[in-house]
Amino acid sequence: MEQVYSCGDCPVCKVLGDLMLLEAVQSRTLFLRCFRCEGAFESPMSRADELRPVEALAPQGFVLPGPERIREAIDGGWGATVMVSLDTDWKARLGPGLRAESAVEPPR
Ligand SMILES: [Zn+2]
Repeated sequence: MEQVYSCGDCPVCKVLGDLMLLEAVQSRTLFLRCFRCEGAFESPMSRADELRPVEALAPQGFVLPGPERIREAIDGGWGATVMVSLDTDWKARLGPGLRAESAVEPPR
């Protein structure tokens, strides 16, 4: 079972824990996407007026970050926690940007 991590509340919706931690394909940049309004943010410190379309932060699509990247986010003060209240159709709701790459990175 894949675990999805949240890094806090969307500054637009202000709904608890809706900012989903994602990793942009190609740039490998971690970013956040609101599960409700679908706005994307560069960090949990972003303000409401810093909302970006997800295509701007992840033009090639995105994946669920692997354990190493999640650790990085936590160490960087993003405070990632497991999202527990996901609908069964959460993947479909993430849309076509979600790439099929495995959430678990191979050991280096
Ligand atoms: Zn939102």
